Amino acid sequence: MDQAAEKYLAAFPVDRFQKQLLYWFERNMRQLPWREDRDPYKIWVSEVMLQQTQVDTVIPYYKRFMERFPTLEALAEADEEEVLKHWEGLGYYSRARNLHQAVKEVKERYGGQVPENREDISTLKGVGPYTAGAILSIAYGQREPAVDGNVLRVISRLLYIEEDIQKVKTRRLVEAIVQCLIPEGRASYFNQGLMELGALVCTPKSPHCLTCPVHEVCLAYQQGVQSQLPVKAKKKKPKTVKLVAGVLTDGEQVLIRQRPNSGLLAKLYEFPNVEWYGHEPAETISRYLFETYGLRAETVEEWPLVQHTFTHLIWEIRVYRLQLAEPLGGTLKSAQNRLSLASETRWERIGNLDRYPFPVSHQKIKKELRQRL
Ligand code: SF4
Repeated sequence: MDQAAEKYLAAFPVDRFQKQLLYWFERNMRQLPWREDRDPYKIWVSEVMLQQTQVDTVIPYYKRFMERFPTLEALAEADEEEVLKHWEGLGYYSRARNLHQAVKEVKERYGGQVPENREDISTLKGVGPYTAGAILSIAYGQREPAVDGNVLRVISRLLYIEEDIQKVKTRRLVEAIVQCLIPEGRASYFNQGLMELGALVCTPKSPHCLTCPVHEVCLAYQQGVQSQLPVKAKKKKPKTVKLVAGVLTDGEQVLIRQRPNSGLLAKLYEFPNVEWYGHEPAETISRYLFETYGLRAETVEEWPLVQHTFTHLIWEIRVYRLQLAEPLGGTLKSAQNRLSLASETRWERIGNLDRYPFPVSHQKIKKELRQRL
C-alpha cells in the first residue's frame, strides 16, 4: 500500500464505510440514461460529457448523441463536423474532437473493443486518469480509482486531508486511498457511490452532514471543519479579452468563418471578429473586414454585448450589424468567387446557419440575428 495512503487509513473503519456507502447508493442512485447498461462506449461518452458540465445539462445532449451515434462504430465513421454539431453548446469542444479520434483508434487498433487495461486505455486521446478509471471500474468492474472533483472533495473531508486538491500530488494520494477503499467485486457501485455522494450530499457549499450516510466515520464532520475542506489555492482571476464581432449581411447571406484547426474552439464557426484596444470598436471591425477580406462595410446598429467565461478567459464581445457598402449581387457562388475569400470564410444563407457548429457566444449572436431580421 502507498505509505501516505496507509497513514490516512491507519485508524479508519474501511469496512463500515464501504457498507454504509454501498447501502446508500443502492437505494439513492439517480436513474441516469448512461446507467441503463454497462456498455463501455456509452459510459465513456457520458464521462467525457460530464467533465466540467452538470448532469442536468448533459442528459439531453447525451440522448441526442446516442440517437445519432448509438455505437462506437457509428461515431468512428461520422464526419468530425457532424460530431461537433451534436456537441454544440456543451463547450470544451476539444473533448468531442479527442473522443472522436480516440474512438476511431479503438475501431482500428482494438477491433472496436474499448481496452480493458489502464495502460492501453490511457494512450487514447483525451483519456486521462479519471476517465480511464471510470470506464475500467464502471463498465468492467475493475478495482481502479476514478477520482474527479467530487471524489477529491469527499475523500478530503472524510479523512481530513489538508493538502491542496489542485496539486497532482494530492490527486495521486487520493487515488491511492480510493484504490485501497474499493471493496472486492464492487468497484462499479463503489466508485459511482463516491461520485454520487459528492454530487448530492457532500456538496461544495453547505454539505448535508446530518443526513449523510457516512457522517459517523467522517473526520471533517467529527471535527466540525467540513466547510473549510477541501483546501484549494486561490486561482488567478480570468483575463478579460475585448473582442468586436461583425455580422456582415448581404441580403439573405451572412459572412461566417471557421476557426483554426487547433487551439481554443478549434474548427467551430463564428462571425468574423477581432480583438480591439481603445479605438472605436465599430471602426475596428470595419477596418478589419476591409484589410482581411477586402470588404467595405457600413455599420447599421450595435447589438447587446455578449459575454462568455472560459476557465482562464472571459470574452467580452461588442457586436455590430454591418452591411456591405456595395451589395455583392449575383448568386452565392459568384459572390464567393468574386471575393476570393480565405478558404475558411464563406457567405452562407442565414437560413442555413444551423448546419454549422457555433460556440455558445456566437450562438447568441446567431439568435440575435434571427430575431432582428
Ligand atoms: Fe461530506 Fe459531511 Fe458526509 Fe463528511 S459527513 S462526507 S463532510 S457530507
